[in-house]
Amino acid sequence: MARIDLKNIAHSYHAKPKEPGDYALKHIHSTWEEGGAYALLGPSGCGKTTLLNIISGLLTPSEGRVLYDGRDVTDLPPEKRNIAQVFQFPVLYDTMTVFDNLAFPLKNRGFKMAEITPRVREIADILDLTPFLDKRAAGLTADAKQKISLGRGLVRSDVAAILFDEPLTVIDPQLKWQLRCKLKEIHEQLKLTLVYVTHDQVEALTFADQVIVMYEGEIVQIGTPEELFENPRHKFVGYFIGSPGMNFLPCSLEGRQARVGGVTIALSPETAALGAKAEGELEVGIRPMHLEVHGAAVDGGVPVTVKSVEDQGSFRILTAMLNGHTVRARLPEGRPVPETQAWLRFPPERTKLFAEERLVV
Ligand code: ATP
Repeated sequence: MARIDLKNIAHSYHAKPKEPGDYALKHIHSTWEEGGAYALLGPSGCGKTTLLNIISGLLTPSEGRVLYDGRDVTDLPPEKRNIAQVFQFPVLYDTMTVFDNLAFPLKNRGFKMAEITPRVREIADILDLTPFLDKRAAGLTADAKQKISLGRGLVRSDVAAILFDEPLTVIDPQLKWQLRCKLKEIHEQLKLTLVYVTHDQVEALTFADQVIVMYEGEIVQIGTPEELFENPRHKFVGYFIGSPGMNFLPCSLEGRQARVGGVTIALSPETAALGAKAEGELEVGIRPMHLEVHGAAVDGGVPVTVKSVEDQGSFRILTAMLNGHTVRARLPEGRPVPETQAWLRFPPERTKLFAEERLVV
């Protein structure tokens, strides 16, 4: 397993890129540690597959270098990089048995049967494929076939990294969750360097120790699921992670307070001091679960007009208007629901400031 260094990577599919918009990847400079489970998360078109293909060697970056354990592999093709890849759709041999499919990557590299058999059995066991080992892959369900594909990626213990490109897309939703947990378990057992591309936040958050959030060709934050939730460093992370996403309200600064139209919101002394040094357009950001909802005026409460209340099972989401801006707040179970008017309190320690889309730090 290897550490992966991405040094000043940029990539454009244009022959002569002129402006930032011509780049699928703008500037990626990052180190991913050996044995880490990383999810590459971001919306369609943000550059996840481009970055994965640069790591695997399917694509040579327009600029920058890729290092595995300090060794420059930028100009090496995938077969010389010692990686395993699992794609969206199963890649396997239908006429072979499940055992032979799993054994193939090892046989191909000249391993002896005495080494192959126990490893194939171990991986089959982890993936619940043992009962099918003697069956031909052709007759199996799409889910089982994708499990075999995962197994073929996991069977070699000598690879630098295993790269997954949305491998659970074709899997039944019920099984998806089981397989994600399985992958996490496998990672804990085998300590592999895993890079997993997805646009699904639930998938990324359950699987990875570190989530790499991409947006418009850049990595905007790398962090644990908790860090991304508690401390989004970019507006995109704030509204992409969490459901519903973070609230953002354009504001100006007045001493220790943020002014949003006709109302003011108290900030912590640290946030206000950072905001005073920040340049560009300011916005207040707060998670719906951190807003306090009151049915009557309270000290520090901001009046809002209630638009709707949505029941989401164990909690409800209140949607309200604050000076023409939509705000969402999470109402804990059992709390009375204000009908037309409510007061929202922004706890200063939970209220963040963003300048030009980035958290002020
Ligand atoms: P998705 O989740 O839809 O696969 P992604 O985050 O993986 O998206 P990429 O496929 O890496 O994003 O695409 C990044 C940008 O590069 C997009 O604007 C896309 O249109 C463009 N792009 C990707 N592949 C090519 C190509 N072969 N030629 C030209 N442009 C491309």
